[in-house]
Amino acid sequence: MSELKLCQGTSCHQYTTQDRLKGTKGNKTFQTRRRSNLLFDEFCSQHCTHDWIAQYITRAIDHFGRTTEAKHLTEQNAWVKQYDWDSNYQNRFYVYVNKITKEQRPLTEQQYDDNNYTLNER
Ligand SMILES: [Zn+2]
Repeated sequence: MSELKLCQGTSCHQYTTQDRLKGTKGNKTFQTRRRSNLLFDEFCSQHCTHDWIAQYITRAIDHFGRTTEAKHLTEQNAWVKQYDWDSNYQNRFYVYVNKITKEQRPLTEQQYDDNNYTLNER
């Protein structure tokens, strides 16, 4: 059994659904939802996700770094990992595909799963 976490939505407790109504008779309140599975591991619903974003997104971007110039996809950073199935749909095969040149290079499953393995220049 996984642990219940509180939704981080700024207005979660203001949505008056029956599942949020908690407490003993005569002392009931609408409360922030608790869930074992949350969107982005933080929110009970898309509505609560949006509420948080609407309130905090500018501060979050300023904190983590704002894009101030257009980014460019070039041959040097256009490699993406993909997989496909063989003709019998029995085995997966893995490839690196360059989205600019369309060149393909084979990958092992371990390289595919390794988030640090890349052909892209950093
Ligand atoms: Zn919520």
